[in-house]
Amino acid sequence: MRQKIILREVGLRDGLQIHPTFMATDRKLAWVAAEAAAGISEIEVTSYVPPKLIPQFADAAEVTTGSLLIPNLLVAALIPNLRGAQRGIELGVQKLNFVMSVSHTHNLKNVRREPDESVADFKSIVALIKEQPVGKRPIITGGLSTALGCSYEGRVAVSAVVKRAVQLVQAGADELVVADTVGYADPIQVRDVFQAVLKEVGHVPVAAHFHDTRGTGLANVSAALDCGVTRFDASLAGLGGCPFAPGASGNIVMEDLCFMLDSMGYDTGVDLGQLVQVREIIAQALPDVAMQGAIARAGLPHNYQTAAQRRAA
Ligand code: ZN
Repeated sequence: MRQKIILREVGLRDGLQIHPTFMATDRKLAWVAAEAAAGISEIEVTSYVPPKLIPQFADAAEVTTGSLLIPNLLVAALIPNLRGAQRGIELGVQKLNFVMSVSHTHNLKNVRREPDESVADFKSIVALIKEQPVGKRPIITGGLSTALGCSYEGRVAVSAVVKRAVQLVQAGADELVVADTVGYADPIQVRDVFQAVLKEVGHVPVAAHFHDTRGTGLANVSAALDCGVTRFDASLAGLGGCPFAPGASGNIVMEDLCFMLDSMGYDTGVDLGQLVQVREIIAQALPDVAMQGAIARAGLPHNYQTAAQRRAA
């Protein structure tokens, strides 16, 4: 039995949020549908923030309801606060990804909250979810941004990450995401942080969210795999980038991640050839966006069989 890995597409949120050109709603939905058809089982399709803050997410309601019609897909959305959770619940989204920063300064700049206030917000969100009828309660994820470095404060203490992880799990998180938001992490640091977090809260799933800003993205995935992590965020074509480093690459590239995991014998459930073709939707809809990806550039190795082809053989 091959170890199952859950891959979560975050490009529609993390990738598009800093892109100045609005991607048409029907193109977003085409992207979601095509990637789900390629075998990606979970997609963060949008963010419930005020449209005046990020116009890219003005169509959050349409993208959510459209995505919920797509078969075999867990539809997730990012929420910064209680208001976002209310919108998500009204729309029937299946998973809410709450986010707060471990770093004090980053949390103040990003959500205008002290980290302790964000933990209190999270408790209110969990309470709101518990008020909903059983069957209408979304999964609630506690996301820890800047857990491996902060663009304002630099290095972030492992103990600070563990403290927030424990607080969010005690408050009722179904799952955690530990994120290298600004792409500072190295594999040794990833081991230190994930081992420490898993030791304290390993009874809930802990996902990893890496950026390839400084070229360490897939090495960090390998380190997290060694710690037992089986859930990873990535974005198609590595969409993303960093507002603090213009021109820098973004989230780890979904296609390259799939290739590495497939080669290592993990079960991603993804048809790699089909996944690579989904890039075309982005290329046509956003001709000005920077697309990354080694597999798309170099192609698959000679005689390479994807997991799907091996199954058929
Ligand atoms: Zn990110």
